[in-house]
Order: sequence, then structure tokens, then C-alpha cells
Amino acid sequence: MSKEETDVLVIGAGPAGCVAASIIHQAGFNVRVVERERFPRFVIGESLLPRCMEALEEAKLLDAIKDKNFQVKYGAKFRRGNEVTDFNFSEQFTEGWSWTWQVLRADFDHALASALQKQNIQVDFETTVTDIQFQDSGESVTSVQRKGHEEKINAEFIVDASGSGRVIPRILKLEGSSQLEPRKAVFAHVKEKRRDAYEEPNRIIVVVYEPSAWVWIIPLSNGVTSVGFVGNPDFFQRNGESEAQQFKNLAQGLPYLKERFGDAVLVFEPRKLEAWSSSSERFYGNGYVLTGNVTEFLDPIFSSGVMFATASSQLAGKLLIKKLKGQEVDWEKEYTNVLQKGVDTFRSFVNAWYDGTLEKIFFTHNPDMLIKRQITSVLAGYVWDENNPFVKNPDDALRVLVRKINSRDKFLTQQP
Ligand code: FAD
Repeated sequence: MSKEETDVLVIGAGPAGCVAASIIHQAGFNVRVVERERFPRFVIGESLLPRCMEALEEAKLLDAIKDKNFQVKYGAKFRRGNEVTDFNFSEQFTEGWSWTWQVLRADFDHALASALQKQNIQVDFETTVTDIQFQDSGESVTSVQRKGHEEKINAEFIVDASGSGRVIPRILKLEGSSQLEPRKAVFAHVKEKRRDAYEEPNRIIVVVYEPSAWVWIIPLSNGVTSVGFVGNPDFFQRNGESEAQQFKNLAQGLPYLKERFGDAVLVFEPRKLEAWSSSSERFYGNGYVLTGNVTEFLDPIFSSGVMFATASSQLAGKLLIKKLKGQEVDWEKEYTNVLQKGVDTFRSFVNAWYDGTLEKIFFTHNPDMLIKRQITSVLAGYVWDENNPFVKNPDDALRVLVRKINSRDKFLTQQP
């Protein structure tokens, strides 16, 4: 059994792990990444938010992604029957990036990990963390398995970016409970016969299927479109027994979908994911920090996953550099509270989506343009701008807005 030393061990080479590793390495510290899978590997999470770009830029990983020519994304379109609302990231309230990408995650994650290797960061694929022993000093000994061999890695600090692997929460029993209802997704990649005849490919399109159930349509640069249905388990049970049947039936279930995808060809058989909401009781501890999905994952409706993965690692990386340089870090105030603010803003939006509040707001006629710009900023991932009332106090802002819309609609219907 071999024994290795590193300043920082990063668990997972997804977007969270790569951003953290790159930022810490560039400050001159020794970083090692261990990743369970061999890349490229399939992951869901193809629609990015503009706020991701800031993290990728700071991590000096943006050029590696630009080289891949992914489908550029300028906004998000919501469709209910024939009603359509378009949120364009160039019309934002908060100053920030006005575009991002829709990516094939296998290629995106592979490009990020390869960019780390080009910086001479050691990335060990097919290497699984099986155990971690923390000492009182915060230093740790991590056991990893690689092709049947065990190895121990001594590290001064660990960044756990293991996504649904949830390595440290499982080992230290930090699993939190999710307040969201368990939901399920059935999805596939398809080749459309007439993709260009439909809406522009440079947006995610979210179609309201029925209350609490929706569809994502994400055109990708290789000509393939990612299509996924999301709803309660009961929604799927009502629509067939297998995932293949459910996908086929649901794709015929609305006129827009039937016309667009009725003759589409599956690139792979429909897959499912379910009960994804998760949280951790704490986001840091003596000798470690959690980033990305390991902290908290809510729901795919607003494509916030990769944004939180990269933004949390951007912040964790910078704080860790301070700590490794011997400066004081108040992890509760400077990390947990900051992340929690962003998570809570999205939680309000996720709840408002599933209780119908946002549907009412999104499809209202003659929307107030300032309010639309403020909502666009949340949808772009700028969920830390306290000048935006939908960030400062999202529950109140959404409640007041929907009340105004309801009373205006009531007034209009009462007109002679
Ligand atoms: P991951 O990308 O999961 O990376 C973690 C890595 O850690 C993996 O490569 C894994 O192999 C590795 N690992 C795990 N355990 C171990 C171990 N023991 N040892 C070593 N390595 C380990 N997000 C979006 O931004 N846009 C979307 O459109 C979107 N759609 C989604 C749709 C659905 C149905 C779901 C469920 C999620 C969606 N997401 C989306 C969320 C997105 O997939 C995640 O938020 C994102 O991948 C999190 O990145 P990460 O780096 O934290 O984790």
C-alpha cells in the first residue's frame, strides 16, 4: 500500500471539484483530485446559468470550454399551451454575464478535468474514496481504491465535491433532510427531424405539462436535443409502466410536443432519476469543506445545479487559500451563510414554481419590465444581489407580486 501527501485533496472531478482544484492550485498549493469514474462519463445537467461563467473565468477554465463550441444559451423560454414567455439574459437587473452554454456534460466535465491535467494537477480517475480518518489538527488520511489497490493520501485539507456520492456527509453522518417533495425525471436525447423549424436553439425551453409537471427541452451543439419530463412519481405511474413507455406517451401528450417530437429518434433509451433533493447539516468542518451538490441540491427546474457547483467552489477555493496562508476564516459567516442565501432564493422560486405562483407571474399579460428584469437575474443565477427584491426577500416579493396580478385580473374581468 502506498502513502502520498498533498496540501489539498479534492474528491470528485465534476464542475465543483475542477473549479476548486484549479483556483487552489493557481495560488501555489499542491492539489490532488480523485475521481471514481473514467471520463468522459454521462451526467445530467446540461443547461448552465450565466453566473457559472464568473467561476469558470476565475478558475481559468473558460478557454478550455470555449474551445468545445457548445451551444450558446441566451435565455430561458417558458411555454404553456400557446402562451410563451421569454427571459433574455441580456435584459438583466444585476450586472453580469448575459450568456452561457448548453453543454454535453460528458464533454464539458472531460474538458474541465483535462484542463486541470494541462496545469499539471494530478487527477486520478477510477479512484474511489472509501474512508477518511480526521485527526484533531484537521489533517486527514483518506483511503482510496484504484483497480483493486488501496492507497492512503495524507492531506492538510479536503474539498468534498463528490456530488451524489456525498462522501463526507455519509462518513461523518451529516446528512440533512430535504423539505421538498420527492420528484422524478424521465429523460433522453433525441434527434429531431426538423429542429430548425421550431424555436431558436439558443435557449432552454420549459413546457408546463400539467400543474407540478414540466418538460425541459435543451438543444445541444451536436444536433441532438435533450428532453426530460419531471413530476411526482404518480404523474409517471399514470403514463405507463416502463420509462420507455412513459417517455413515449408523454412526448405525445401535448400538441406542441407531439408535433415536435412525434417522429424524433431516440439517441439512447429513456433513463430515470428520482428523489434527488439532498442537504447536509453543515457545509464545513475541521479540515474539510463541502462544495457543489454535496452541500444542497434542490430541483432541476431552474438549472441551478452547475451554477451552485461552480460558485460554491469558487468561494470555497478562495477561503481555503486564505486559511492555508495562515489567515483567519470565519467559515460560518463567509461560506455557509453566503451559500445558504443563494440556496434559499432558489428554494423560494422552486416552491413558487410547484405551487403555481410563478406560472401565474410568468404568463401574466403586460408584465412590469423592471420586475421582469429582476426575475431574469435570478434565472441567470445572480442570487446574491441584495438590491434585487426577489433576492433580498423572495417569498415576500413573489407573494406581493402575485397578489397584484390577481387583483388586476379581477379588475379587468369586472370591466363592462
Ligand atoms: P457531480 O457533477 O455529480 O460530480 C461529482 C463527481 O464526484 C462525480 O464525477 C463522481 O463520480 C465523483 N465521486 C462520487 N463519489 C466519489 C468517491 N467516493 N470517490 C471519488 N469520486 C467520487 N444542473 C444544471 O446546472 N443544469 C441542468 O439543466 C440540470 N439538470 C438536472 C436534471 C436532473 C434530473 C437532475 C437530478 C439534476 C440536474 N442538474 C442540472 C444538477 C446537476 O446535475 C448537478 O447539480 C451538478 O452535476 C453538480 O456538480 P458537482 O460537481 O457538484 O457534482
